Amino acid sequence: MPEPRYRVAIVGAGPSGLFAAQFLTARDDVEVDIFDRLPTPYGLLRYGVAPDHTSIKSVANALARVFNSPAVRFLGLVSFGRDVTREELLASYDAVIYAVGASEDLRMGVPGEDAAGSRSAREFVAWYSGHPDAEPQSLHGVTQAVAIGVGNVAVDVARILAKEPLALDLTDMPEDVLAELRRATLTDVWVIGRRGPQHASFTTTELRELCRTPGVQVSVEESAFDGIDEAALDRRTRANVAVLREASETVVADPRVRLHFLFWRRPVALHGDPVSGLLIERTGLDAEGRVTGTGVTEELDVQLVLRAIGYRAVRLPGVPFDEPLGVIPSTQGRVLDGAAVAPREYVVGWIKRGPIGVIGTNKSDARETVEHVLADLDGLGPLPTRVDVVEALTARGLAPSSFDDWRRIEAAEANRGASHERERMKIEAWHELLDLVQRERPGGPIPPA
Ligand code: NAP
Repeated sequence: MPEPRYRVAIVGAGPSGLFAAQFLTARDDVEVDIFDRLPTPYGLLRYGVAPDHTSIKSVANALARVFNSPAVRFLGLVSFGRDVTREELLASYDAVIYAVGASEDLRMGVPGEDAAGSRSAREFVAWYSGHPDAEPQSLHGVTQAVAIGVGNVAVDVARILAKEPLALDLTDMPEDVLAELRRATLTDVWVIGRRGPQHASFTTTELRELCRTPGVQVSVEESAFDGIDEAALDRRTRANVAVLREASETVVADPRVRLHFLFWRRPVALHGDPVSGLLIERTGLDAEGRVTGTGVTEELDVQLVLRAIGYRAVRLPGVPFDEPLGVIPSTQGRVLDGAAVAPREYVVGWIKRGPIGVIGTNKSDARETVEHVLADLDGLGPLPTRVDVVEALTARGLAPSSFDDWRRIEAAEANRGASHERERMKIEAWHELLDLVQRERPGGPIPPA
């Protein structure tokens, strides 16, 4: 095989980065190195998509095929900004694509938000997905839990809380997580929207699945539907409203959990530490369509508050960042530094367009960026000289983990699963992941940040 002409670095091995790698290596003159902070590829597919959504998770099988190509390398345990810099990558690769997603979450900005028992849905999802950085979650004493926000993340956490734990037994959730869910004594889950059902960002399939969770009685106040002109709604929203109506009219005999959708309410304060109450205020819209408080408040006795109000990206050291929008500024996937295009730097996924869209959205997004990467490479030609980043890392005593290391983690997860009659069970402890990576690595891997 001839030497590839171009070498491209992708920072982030989540779905958007892997779709980009797939499109790039459709050409046989491009070689791709995919960097990730973790020794495990797949990003949000592994640590964000709910464990019981196995058909979405199976996208990972399709994306894994990208690593079958000899033109693609996985370089895990390499943290951008700490182990490798923007300058180093630009000296080593003809193009650099940032695919780092949005790793933080928005805050409500209300008193009591930092009390024990109040956390972001992102952290809760990371816990039940077995992310090595996740703090353990105790559900001890939690009978009433609330998710703030009416998007798909709120749906995911509400469903995991409301679902009969036995129904989660066949997922890849770590055993400790399942044990905690089995011990839980939850009776009520609240999902709170600051606007009406017609404004909620749920997708209908996800909402319907939540509302039809066996053993769950759904309630929606009749007044939530007041003033909705169904004829004026788009298809998704009209279907959402129909799902909510139908669910609230359906009586479930002897429900295990009650699921209350409360619309036109916003959080005002959390009381107690650990949390024992959530003060909410009724809302309306002002003349400009902005959410405004009515001054009418009520208190919910809850012991767990999960804010599911959106993700937020983090600035990468040295890379342009639009702070208010929380993205790397770009045009058609090319990074912008002020008004000018930053040569040979590109973006894909949530760091490009913000934290919206489902896994599949990343495919068309990556296609757009890669078209421009390839057009620019063909225009500019390869760099005259390149530094070998892996050699530079090794010289500094850093040893990136490989796709074979990941295969070893995967095999260990399959083994663990087999002993519980499951296909796979996640390994969530850093030391166990590192042990598996270290097994054939005398120098040892880079310790986590
Ligand atoms: P989202 O869809 O943007 O929903 C955020 C929700 O939080 C909205 O209801 C928003 O209300 C509300 N909100 C924002 N700020 C608030 C505040 N200060 N106080 C109270 N409520 C506030 O975000 P997401 O649920 O995090 O989902 C992110 C993306 O991932 C979405 O595109 C989603 O579809 C996708 N996702 C997909 C799946 C799936 O396909 N199964 C699963 C999970 C996530 P307003 O509308 O009033 O701002």
